[in-house]
Amino acid sequence: VAYYDRLNDDAQGILGYVSEFRQDFHRHPELSWCEFRTTAVLCRELEKLGFDVSWGKALWGDLKPHNLPPAEQLEESYRQALQALGDDDPYLADMRGGYTGLVAQLMCSENGPRQAFRFDIDALPVTESDACSHLPHEAGFSSTAEGKMHACGHDGHMATGLGLARIISERREELKGQFTLFFQPAEEVAGGGVHFAKLPQLQDVQRFYSVHLGIVDRPVLVCDATWIAGSVFDVVMKGRSAHAGNNPEFGRNALLAACQAVTGLYGIARHSDGVSRVNVGGMSSDNANNVIADEARFCFEVRGASNEIRNYMEARARQMVEGAAAMQEVDVIISPRTRFENHPNHAHLARWIKEQAIDFGLQLEEVQDAYQVPASEDATFMTRVVNDQGGQGCHLVFGCPVKGGHHNPTFDIPDHLVAWGSSFYFHLAKEFSMEVNIKTDPSL
Ligand SMILES: [Zn+2]
Repeated sequence: VAYYDRLNDDAQGILGYVSEFRQDFHRHPELSWCEFRTTAVLCRELEKLGFDVSWGKALWGDLKPHNLPPAEQLEESYRQALQALGDDDPYLADMRGGYTGLVAQLMCSENGPRQAFRFDIDALPVTESDACSHLPHEAGFSSTAEGKMHACGHDGHMATGLGLARIISERREELKGQFTLFFQPAEEVAGGGVHFAKLPQLQDVQRFYSVHLGIVDRPVLVCDATWIAGSVFDVVMKGRSAHAGNNPEFGRNALLAACQAVTGLYGIARHSDGVSRVNVGGMSSDNANNVIADEARFCFEVRGASNEIRNYMEARARQMVEGAAAMQEVDVIISPRTRFENHPNHAHLARWIKEQAIDFGLQLEEVQDAYQVPASEDATFMTRVVNDQGGQGCHLVFGCPVKGGHHNPTFDIPDHLVAWGSSFYFHLAKEFSMEVNIKTDPSL
């Protein structure tokens, strides 16, 4: 029996509740910065549970989202959310333009620790499988949005957050201090974490948790999950067109330069200090067969186990692209689009989580200390702020088999894992709240 199939009373009590929400989110996936309906549904439910909720322009203040989709796409998603929830929805208007996500807070007592949990909320441009072996399809809760899918489990993350919120609100008499839940948008495009790291609600937090479901493809809890760094760039090469037969020597071939840049990028020497990655996508050049191409575009990403390795990959990548441009005498513009950082978890907190997991009933073999996921996460921006200011931040993985794998049309996670996750998070919250209380109460 997997660890998440052994549910305590808290988890049993919310299983139906979290399944219902997870399935609702799964039916209605929204892409990065377009999570309008999702944010409104979360706001409504969290207010119902008694949390103070901030969203939209009031939450974002002077901050502005970056790496947004085209304006028409944002507007179309906003319009669809209005259609789904009604023109009189009290939450939607303030999010227009991509100001999605929310922060929910509950003060249980003035004295006591400030603890925070972060959940990401966006979906992916993946078309969901309609195979009969795919449970969401068979159980009737697969995506109703053409070409979009919660294929990374963020629907489960949100449901975990709601489950936690519900247990906190039902058992608030037993708790001390303040609880802050960040429902962060646009993780997939790195993203909302950059901006949520700057929110005032994060600045005085003593404990900060973020989690990913799945990842390791087996039932194991990872107490200390770190992520590799990455950078994404857009490249435009500009040359000069000429007749391909008459006088090709007058042309400056942007397509050829782009092709040479791409092969150069994949040929960057690897760094001995740790893993690295490079990938190119979206290459295009609209030239006719008899015209020397005057323009070509592509995007690429580099990654590294540490920020230093990523920086090395980034520097070499620039040389490859600029070198290829120089060879063909074309101009090149390399525009940074976004960036993911690697950041270590707080070591003491990671150890404490492991002790708590054993205390919560996990077997030693169901707990893994450290794992560096060869993917990237923008929660690290938030963890860094908390750790730098003297708090303790940690990223966990609630591991489980993930069927076709992350970002795949057959990705799926078990509802039990969501309910288990909410109850485990509550356990962590309660234990710390009691620990701090004992330490600060002079009568003890
Ligand atoms: Zn994810």
